[in-house]
Amino acid sequence: MLDNKLCPYCAKSINFEKIENDPFGKSVEHLIPNAVTTRKRKNDEGDFNAHRSCNMKKGSLDELIGKFSRLQSSTPNISLGALRKELESKKNTRFYRALNDDRVRGGENGVNIPNPVSGEEIIDFLTYIAKGLYFKQFAFPLNIKKFEIIPGFIPSQKIKHLESEYEQTNGTNPFRDLEKNNIAKTVDSEYTVLVSENGMKYLIFLHDYTVFNVDVIRKGCTSKGKAIKARRELINLFGGSKKCT
Ligand SMILES: [Zn+2]
Repeated sequence: MLDNKLCPYCAKSINFEKIENDPFGKSVEHLIPNAVTTRKRKNDEGDFNAHRSCNMKKGSLDELIGKFSRLQSSTPNISLGALRKELESKKNTRFYRALNDDRVRGGENGVNIPNPVSGEEIIDFLTYIAKGLYFKQFAFPLNIKKFEIIPGFIPSQKIKHLESEYEQTNGTNPFRDLEKNNIAKTVDSEYTVLVSENGMKYLIFLHDYTVFNVDVIRKGCTSKGKAIKARRELINLFGGSKKCT
């Protein structure tokens, strides 16, 4: 855990005086959130300090992405557990409605439900992830005036296809092999993060099949176009705002 004084998300200083409910006060951040993992990690397993308010803003996205990735898990206990919890709680109307939607279909690759997470939310989540991973690499906040964040998502059908090709060739599972690789950071077989050698390209596997790729690139002639294109693709894929539900 980094003992940082600047918040990786907004780049401003953290207040270390103990003031109750101070939005600029310190909180311990788990970059890949506890909403993703089955085991709730303790504070000493956190990644860095962040403002309480920044952490809370990310928190609502954490919940959505956590549910989204667990529902798609390759481990039946996790996906079915998440499904049961959603159906029984009825609290998150968005997931609950998606599961009860007329468009729910069973298919070769499992059950397809209308996607309850919007493209904007995926982009916002990946912006936090990029800032956090960059911070972990360089121990300094990402300067968004100098760098552009290029968010991406690899559809699970593509990942499943690559998985079966790999299994046929190697006789082993790619995700379990990946976990044994020294460059991968894996926690409880539930998520794996890969960072490129220059520290600015990230691959994030949540429960194997929810895969994000995020690049941080220096601003230049083509960077803005790349960022706009990447964002547009995510919005096309996931759909626009679902906040009204
Ligand atoms: Zn902050």
